[in-house]
Amino acid sequence: MFDNLSDKLDKALHILKGHGKITEVNVADTLKEVRRALLDADVNFKIAKDFTTRVKEKAIGQDVLTTLQPGQLMVKIVKDELTELMGGDAAGVNLSGNPSVILMSGLQGSGKTTFSGKLANFLKTKKNKKPLLVACDIYRPAAINQLHVVGEQIGVEVYSEPENKNPVSISQNAIAYAKQNGFNVVIVDTAGRLAIDEQMMNEIANVHAAIQPQETLFVVDSMTGQDAVNTAKAFNDRLNFDGVVLTKLDGDTRGGAAISIKSIVNKPIKFIGTGEKMDAIDVFYPDRMADRILG
Ligand code: GDP
Repeated sequence: MFDNLSDKLDKALHILKGHGKITEVNVADTLKEVRRALLDADVNFKIAKDFTTRVKEKAIGQDVLTTLQPGQLMVKIVKDELTELMGGDAAGVNLSGNPSVILMSGLQGSGKTTFSGKLANFLKTKKNKKPLLVACDIYRPAAINQLHVVGEQIGVEVYSEPENKNPVSISQNAIAYAKQNGFNVVIVDTAGRLAIDEQMMNEIANVHAAIQPQETLFVVDSMTGQDAVNTAKAFNDRLNFDGVVLTKLDGDTRGGAAISIKSIVNKPIKFIGTGEKMDAIDVFYPDRMADRILG
């Protein structure tokens, strides 16, 4: 992923890389290219503009024109700024509860159910936790089955009540069940819709208020570009979520979502999904992502 952006930034920075001497005109040209690359990658216009303004200020502040290796310094400034834009330091999940309750939110098809399984597997194998998966999609029996299939694959128990049509009571019952049976993490997979809709938002807001999760994660398909940002904003307005999961980064995505989401909702991207298998999960590191973008 990000090949597009990476290539373009490479070209933009090529003017500077390796050159002993650069001029203000060179810097301005490069910044213009950087901005275009960000826009092409679906980054919101204002974010791209602010980004290049900050890079320019830093370049001037660090006297880029008079240093011995101005190209390298520019690359470093762009990389640091990009890292900052995507969230600064990596942030973990809050596992302080007993059990710790993690609520998953997001549109249908975003990869929520798949990611619930990946996260359960990650916490079980890497953090030595005993997670319980909870199926709270009361509309699609197929979604409940899908979570059972996932649970079987990774050897994690799945709690469901196929006859119960109230997601609030299902999730509350699941937490009580977890307490009685020694589960220390509860991952609640909720119903999504194809697009934002009021009923869905009310439903997940009610579940959120009733179970008061330690962690609410918003799952979003990184292939959806600017829509990803709009969806993130709508969910954050209702749930004030704690972090973002960016899925399908193995696909042919341009990466604008990673850059924009943090700036728009001011929440960190915590995990990325890089495939359909249960181990295709990575903790999100902004500096690594910036490296990847810059090549
Ligand atoms: P949900 O409706 O939000 O629960 O979405 P699902 O978990 O059912 O995922 C929708 C589709 O996306 C399924 O076909 C998944 O296999 C696929 N999927 C989920 N995460 C990823 C990912 O990180 N990479 C790829 N390539 N596919 C994914």
